[in-house]
Amino acid sequence: MKYLFGPVPSRRLGLSLGVDLVPYKVCSFDCLYCELGRTTSHTSERREYVPTMAVLDELRSHFQEAGESSCDYVTLSGSGEPTLHSNLADIVLGIKDITDRPLALLTNSSLMDDPAVRRAVQPVDVILPSLDAVTPQVFKRVNRPVDQVHIDSILSGLSALRQEFKGEIWLEILFCRDINDSESEVEALTKAFQGLQPDKIQLNTVARPGAYQEAQSVSLEFLQQVQKRWGERAEIVASFSSTQLNHSQQDSRQQIVNTLKRRPCTVQDLAASCAMVPAEVVKFLDLLKNEGTVRASVHEGITFYVA
Ligand code: SF4
Repeated sequence: MKYLFGPVPSRRLGLSLGVDLVPYKVCSFDCLYCELGRTTSHTSERREYVPTMAVLDELRSHFQEAGESSCDYVTLSGSGEPTLHSNLADIVLGIKDITDRPLALLTNSSLMDDPAVRRAVQPVDVILPSLDAVTPQVFKRVNRPVDQVHIDSILSGLSALRQEFKGEIWLEILFCRDINDSESEVEALTKAFQGLQPDKIQLNTVARPGAYQEAQSVSLEFLQQVQKRWGERAEIVASFSSTQLNHSQQDSRQQIVNTLKRRPCTVQDLAASCAMVPAEVVKFLDLLKNEGTVRASVHEGITFYVA
C-alpha cells in the first residue's frame, strides 16, 4: 500500500485506517515532540503532494478486499500535515463516496484560518486539531511553525471551524515539561477553550523521544490536575496494548521486533526495511515501548530503537 497504512490501533480512534496525504515529512510545523522526526519540508504551501485519484483507488481496493468492518475510522493523517494537500475537498468527498466508515482528520490547525480548508473538511465526522500553546513565544518554541503561521490566526481559524462545522471536535494538547506546562500557559489555554468549545479536550504528553531532546514528558499527576481543572470534557489519552492486534498486525509487530533485534534503527530505517509508512511504524513502536519490548536511545541527536 502506498498511501494507506494499517489499520493500526490508535489511542483515540480504535482501529484506524490511515490515509497519508503528504510524503515524509511535509509539515508547516517542526514540533519538538514529533514522533516522526524532524520536518524535512517545512512549508505552508498547499499542493497536490500525492495524486488524488491514486489515493482514492487504493482506498476503494482496500474496502473491496477487506470489507467495511476492517476499521473503526478512516483517518487523514500520516507523514506530515494533511490539510496541505490542495485537493483535500475532493479527497474527503471521494472517501465519503467509497465508505460509510466515519472519517477523522488529524491536523495541526495551522491552515484552519483558510475558508477553503474549512469548507473542505465539512463532511468529516470528527476533527482532532492540536493546540499546544496560545502565547506566541511558547507556541513558537513547542511547534516551531513556518514564518507565515501565527497563533492568532490559528485561534480565529479554530473558532470559525467551531461555528461552521457540525461534527465533533476533539482538541489535543500535548504537554512538554518546562515548555508549555507553566501555570500562565495552562490559564491562557483555559481561556481559549471558551471561544473554541471543543467536544473533548484530550491531554497528552511525550511518550517516546521526539524530534528534539528538549521534548520531555510531564508527570501523570500534572495531567490529572489539568484534567480536573478543565472538567468533564477533558480526558487523558491512554495507550492500547498489543493484545488488541489482529494477525496481520501481529506480523507487522514481529517484523519490527526482528529488525530491531538485528540492529538499532530510526523510524525511517524501520519504515524502509519493513515496507511501512513512518506513521504506521510509530504506532507499533508506541505499543512495543509500552510493553517494554523496545527502548529508545538517542545518539548525536538522532533517536534509535533497540529490541
Ligand atoms: S507532530 Fe504533527 S504537526 Fe508537529 S511536526 Fe509532527 S507531523 Fe507536523
